[in-house]
Amino acid sequence: MKYILYARKSTEDDDRQILSIEAQIFELKEFAAKEKLEIVASLQEAKTAKEPGRIKFAEMLALIERGKADGILSWNPDRLARNSVDGGRIIHMIDRGLIKALKFPTFWFEPTPQGLFMLQIAFGQSKYYVDALRENVTRGMRQKVRNGVWPSKAPLGYLNNPKTRGIDVNTEKARKVKKLFELYATGNYNLRELAEWYMRVSTKSNLDKGMYISQVPKILQNVFYIGLMKYKGEIFQGTHEPLISKKLFDRVQEIMREKGKSQKIKKHNFAFLGLMKCPCSAAITAEKKIKPSGREYIYYRCTKKKGPCQEKYFLRDEELYKQVKSFLQKVSLSSQDTKKVLAELEKDESRAKEEAKTTVQNFKTELTKIEAKLQKLLDVYLNEVISADDYKVRKEILVIQKVGLGEKITDFEQIGLSWLEPAREFVLSLNQASKLLEFENKSEMTTFLKNIGSNCILQNRQLLFSPKIPYDLVAACGGPMPKNLQFPLWWTWGESDSRPGNLPA
Ligand SMILES: [Zn+2]
Repeated sequence: MKYILYARKSTEDDDRQILSIEAQIFELKEFAAKEKLEIVASLQEAKTAKEPGRIKFAEMLALIERGKADGILSWNPDRLARNSVDGGRIIHMIDRGLIKALKFPTFWFEPTPQGLFMLQIAFGQSKYYVDALRENVTRGMRQKVRNGVWPSKAPLGYLNNPKTRGIDVNTEKARKVKKLFELYATGNYNLRELAEWYMRVSTKSNLDKGMYISQVPKILQNVFYIGLMKYKGEIFQGTHEPLISKKLFDRVQEIMREKGKSQKIKKHNFAFLGLMKCPCSAAITAEKKIKPSGREYIYYRCTKKKGPCQEKYFLRDEELYKQVKSFLQKVSLSSQDTKKVLAELEKDESRAKEEAKTTVQNFKTELTKIEAKLQKLLDVYLNEVISADDYKVRKEILVIQKVGLGEKITDFEQIGLSWLEPAREFVLSLNQASKLLEFENKSEMTTFLKNIGSNCILQNRQLLFSPKIPYDLVAACGGPMPKNLQFPLWWTWGESDSRPGNLPA
């Protein structure tokens, strides 16, 4: 049996529930693969069936007349004929034995007198057409997802566009969602603080109802924000604009894993609390003491909550502050020098952009390969070589690779080389250190040090601090830039391509 695949949707067909031609073809191919039908021709028509005289329809009947095919595969009888002339011609060809089979994924037809009667009804009656709508709606949703369009209510930060039936960005809310990710990625906020922050920034607008704590993790884990869609357990690439980068998303997932679900809210009045630990691994606490003279002192000491501890000293707040400042001085860069370094970076950027062109080309070749793989995967799935579950798993891997690559390409196209942005942030953070010193903002200093370092120990009244790369190199130079501004060690990283890792966001 040789089948002709026939798909039709007319532009004047104002019923939106009808699948697009593309969707019909997809469903029909899937159906053909399942039913093992041999397709000899695939015809599509963008004309109405209400009036006779469709070109492709006539071409199909001619092919059948010449014996090139003896079966028709179409989405629904209403795709074939919606006027009595066309319906009559098909039925006449069935009578003559020219058409031996009619297959519809949505309609069961057998060439018996009873079947022919049913077909006549299907051709002629719009009631059937209405009955078929429900099936079409769910299939239409699946097709929408396949086309990269989210079929239901848009997530926070997006809008359903009733005209295009696509998903648009809600600029104001999108900004807040983006900020949620960025704030969480600093590691300094918990879910409750984020929900509270959202409430605070949302009170101005009546339309924004605020946020429950339980909503925050759902937002932070929604792949929709990086341009993907999870629909019934399957990952699809969306056509909507991503709000955040995959890099930021990954960072947030990492932090979420680290923090787990329960986390206490930090609340204290001591600026350097939470910065240091004791060599015995217990936390350092602070307390206020009032001398007989009436003067208040703040002391930092070990909590002694982790068993025996050798530390017997208390460190006064003023003393600790001095040590913090002296460290900050080592990693600070004046605003004037910052400008110079940034200008130098800019020059480097244009150079790097040139070099990046080749790299981008390579990524694009890789991307084409992945796209070919996806197509091949779909083919083997349609041919039932692999199971639906297997298909989903493999597809997810490929789609994620594809998004990752796409992002790399954007990175290279926009930034030139991915180390440049961290380098710029790094320079700016050195400048931030200088500003913190200028404004004597103690609690911000704590945040800054936590960001650029790890494992801060208070031992023997000394603050032992191990900065992350590249801050360690700057600190080891004994001070910031020399007066004549020769670029320090970290400057050469771009050339050797060993990128500075773990830079603060
Ligand atoms: Zn201790």
